[in-house]
Amino acid sequence: MKTLKLSARDPETPEIAAEIIRAGGLVAIPTETVYGLGANGLNEQAVAHIFEVKGRPQDNPLILHVADPAEMERFAKDIPPEAYMLAEKFWPGPMTMVLPARDVVPKRTTGGLDTVGIRCPDCKVTRAIIRKAGVPIAAPSANISGKPSTTTADHVLHDHDGRIEAVVDDGPCRVGVESTIIDLTEKPARLLRPGGITPEQLRAVLGELVVDEAVTGQIDPTQVVKAPGMKYRHYAPQAPVVIISGSREKASEYIHHFYESGDRVLCFEEELGLYSDCNPLAYGREDDVPTLSAGLFDALRVLDDPAIHRVFARCPEGGGVAYAVQNRLKKAAGFHIINAEEIGETE
Ligand code: AMP
Ligand code: MG
Repeated sequence: MKTLKLSARDPETPEIAAEIIRAGGLVAIPTETVYGLGANGLNEQAVAHIFEVKGRPQDNPLILHVADPAEMERFAKDIPPEAYMLAEKFWPGPMTMVLPARDVVPKRTTGGLDTVGIRCPDCKVTRAIIRKAGVPIAAPSANISGKPSTTTADHVLHDHDGRIEAVVDDGPCRVGVESTIIDLTEKPARLLRPGGITPEQLRAVLGELVVDEAVTGQIDPTQVVKAPGMKYRHYAPQAPVVIISGSREKASEYIHHFYESGDRVLCFEEELGLYSDCNPLAYGREDDVPTLSAGLFDALRVLDDPAIHRVFARCPEGGGVAYAVQNRLKKAAGFHIINAEEIGETE
C-alpha cells in the first residue's frame, strides 16, 4: 500500500481523509499533543486494524476524538456536572475525560471497559476531518507500541510507511506529550495521566483531585489498573535510560565520572556546553518547559539507536507541564533515577 502524505494546508485534505475513515481505513492525524493513528471509532473492524498495525495489547483502550464538545453526549452517559465544567474550560485542548460509555461505542474501542475516554483536540484540520467523516475518530498515539510517541508526520512514516492509507502533515505538535487523562467516573476525580492541562489547572476547576499511583510509580503488569496503558513499558529507546537528578553541578560530576564511550547525555540546552565531551543531545530549555515537552519524543527517537549503550537524562523539576515531562521520562527510564546529591564523588 502507498501511504498518502496529505498537507493540513490543502483544502481538499479533510474530504480525502474523511473518505478513508468512512471506508474503514487508517489515517494518522495531527493533534496539538501527538500524532494519532486514527480510524472510525464506531467500526470494530477498523479499530481492530489500529491494534494490529500498532502492535497494541487488546486491553489498552483508545481515546475517541470528537469535533465539538457537545458530541460527548453521543458516546458517554451519566455525565457529571464536572465534565461539562472541564469541557467548557479546556476543550478543544489536551485533556481526555473518562466517562461511562454508551452502547454505541464498541468494546474493541474501550479495550473491554464500560467507560470511554473522550477528547476534543485543538487542531482545526483534524476536527474538520471528524466533522466530514460524521463519526468519532478512535486514535492512540501513532508510534509502534512501546516506542516513543510520534510528534511529526515523519515519525509516523518512519513507523508505518506503506502500512496505513494516509498521514495528514500539520507540522510538529505544539504540546508534544499525550493528553492529560482524568477519570470522572469516581469522586473525587482521578488523574490517570499528566499532560498539557496541569493538575493545578484541574484543581482550580474541581477542587479535589486524586493522583493515580500509575502516574508516580512503576506498575506491576499483572495488576488491575485504572488506565491500562500506564502499566506497559513505554516511550523507551532501546538503550537503558537513567535519570540523574540533583543540581547542575552534582549531576555533571556524576555523569562525567560514569560516562563511557557509546553513552549519550539527554540534557537541557543550557547544559550543552557542560556536556560537550559526553555526546549531549538537548531536548529543550530548562527555563522554558513547553520546549521540553515539545522536544522530548523527537529526542527519544534520535536516541532509539542500537549503537547507543546507555542514556543519562536530565529531567525538569516542579509542577505544571514539567509534571508531564517527568512522567514520560521516568517511564522511559523504567523509574531508574539516581540522585546525584546523595552520591559521593568516588562511588
Ligand atoms: P494513547 O492514545 O496511546 O496515549 O493511549 C490512550 C490511553 O488512554 C490508554 O493507554 C489508556 O491508559 C487511556 N484510556 C483510554 N480510554 C480509557 C478508559 N476508558 N479508561 C481508562 N483509561 C483510558
Ligand atoms: Mg501511546
